[in-house]
Amino acid sequence: MVDIRRLDDATVERIAAGEVVERPSSVVKELVENSLDADATRVEVTVERGGKDGITVADDGIGMTEAEVTRAVEEHTTSKIRDIDDLESGVGTLGFRGEALHAVGAVSRLTITTRPRSDRDVDDARGTKLTVEGGEVTSVEPAGCPEGTTIEVDDLFFNVPARRKYLKQDGTEFAHVNTVVTSYALANPDIAVSLTHDGRETFATTGQGDRREAVMSVYGRDVAESMVPVEVDAAALPDGPLDGVSGLVSHPETTRSTREYLSTYVNGRYVTAGAVRDAVIEAYGHQLAPDRYPFAVLFLDVPAGDVDVNVHPRKLEVRFADEEGVREQIETAVESALLDEGLLRSGAPRG
Ligand code: ADP
Ligand code: MG
Repeated sequence: MVDIRRLDDATVERIAAGEVVERPSSVVKELVENSLDADATRVEVTVERGGKDGITVADDGIGMTEAEVTRAVEEHTTSKIRDIDDLESGVGTLGFRGEALHAVGAVSRLTITTRPRSDRDVDDARGTKLTVEGGEVTSVEPAGCPEGTTIEVDDLFFNVPARRKYLKQDGTEFAHVNTVVTSYALANPDIAVSLTHDGRETFATTGQGDRREAVMSVYGRDVAESMVPVEVDAAALPDGPLDGVSGLVSHPETTRSTREYLSTYVNGRYVTAGAVRDAVIEAYGHQLAPDRYPFAVLFLDVPAGDVDVNVHPRKLEVRFADEEGVREQIETAVESALLDEGLLRSGAPRG
């Protein structure tokens, strides 16, 4: 006889947390998404040792009352959808699972300091500080704090040593964090996003600018000045699932040796899609030197019914049913942007 037992709650919780929280960058992603969903105009991300020792995300969003924050750290609690029908009709927020805060709290020491924004109609306008340690709420007390929310995550995986051991060196973990914060900063030029690592500011956007200005804050002036606009709607695209393609792509001589500077978004959501990156590169044809890749910040509009938002929280990959159609549409859009700027020899042979 095998002994089939029901796992105890603490074990179930930590296993479930691992589905959401894989490494520091997954915590940063969840917290930044929450800040954006909370209507913030400023999001400050600070990490220590690649996020392994500390992660702080501070925003000036709508904030929470004591009752709200107490509820928010419970299991499967969300203010963003009510039931599956809301999900079917399309969600306008980045989050909706109600898993992240609970999961983060289960595998770290979590401190939330929050106060409802003054334009909210709440009975209780005071600030609150709540702490969670390894899944247990350890304190809830009034706090003098600015409007908005600051979330601190210390000692990630202190109670899951196997996971903690699996984390990479600081530099590698930070590179993942940087990719996440960069992708949100580029997509939201109207929000001031900053990233600081071990006391040094990596970048800060102004929140006042356009896409090109966000690119300048993140990648520097030379890259920003080399970017050419892409703005193509459905009528100008070959047949395919996309309704439009817009954004910025770099001059063929402004390149790097990896593809990671090709940032792509589906309906505002950051995705990594090999096929999309390939299509962008393809559009440059022979203008790119061997093993060199351009910069891109490219937004793909897909009709709401044609994308499934209910993907795995950690998965950034997206697949299109008509991948060939998408590739052709993107290639056409980028090609025409480069042609408009005289950056492609029209009719030049392509590989
Ligand atoms: P989800 O984002 O899927 O709703 P989370 O666990 O990430 O689930 O957050 C739970 C709830 O906590 C959110 O629905 C929201 O109401 C609240 N919340 C989380 N972060 C913030 C924040 N930065 N500002 C205001 N409210 C927040
Ligand atoms: Mg969330």
